[in-house]
Amino acid sequence: MTEVLRLFAFNCGWFQCRPGYFIEGDEGDYLRGPVPSYLIDHPKGRALFDTGMGARYRRDCETALPANKFGLQWFEGMDIAARLRAIDVDPTSIDWIVNSHLHVDHCGGNVHFPNATAIVQAREFAVACDRPEPGLYDALDFDTGQPMRTIEGEFDLFGDGSVRIVPTYGHTPGHQSVIVKLTRGDVLLAGDCCYTERNLDTMVLPKATADIEQGRLTLERLSRMRAAGTRILFGHDGRQWATIRENARFE
Ligand SMILES: [Zn+2]
Repeated sequence: MTEVLRLFAFNCGWFQCRPGYFIEGDEGDYLRGPVPSYLIDHPKGRALFDTGMGARYRRDCETALPANKFGLQWFEGMDIAARLRAIDVDPTSIDWIVNSHLHVDHCGGNVHFPNATAIVQAREFAVACDRPEPGLYDALDFDTGQPMRTIEGEFDLFGDGSVRIVPTYGHTPGHQSVIVKLTRGDVLLAGDCCYTERNLDTMVLPKATADIEQGRLTLERLSRMRAAGTRILFGHDGRQWATIRENARFE
């Protein structure tokens, strides 16, 4: 068990799209963004923020998506269970899974953690159950046997203010993010409430926004947080990801 709070960042796959998917009107070659997952190792327990994609998105060199195709994929060794084992963390030791939302590329690895309790916003769970749509919401990913705890609004995971789940609605009706208090300051694990840094710089929401009004409020909140010194780790930002040391403690 760790004595101090530690945060680790992993990439569990790739999200390929044209720049216009993130910001309408942007042009250029296809982008390849990460599908991140984070381990929050706290003295009172271990939590993951998002878990990547399910087995059906696994590819190998023969079946890999061409670089000019929209889609999701991951390769051998990239799934969250393998990422954890690579830093000597036993997947059965994970207590909590905080899913930002229930899209296929954020909860597809929940299946690896039967001992964990998944935490989602109640309104997100309701939408995912009401409107299953393969490629977006699929019960294959989130109905995997472990307990699901639904919450409404903010939630202090360990009761000491160091890991706070905060609602960041917009991308989906019940999206949530996590603020982790590190010694160097607060870090916001955004998930898809903000795909890239450029979305925040330009204050432009992507077309794939379920609730535009809430999405705008979320962006404004992120902007204020960033101005006050919070570091933000974006949802699928390839440029930012290139600066992150994977499988290493995030200071
Ligand atoms: Zn999403």
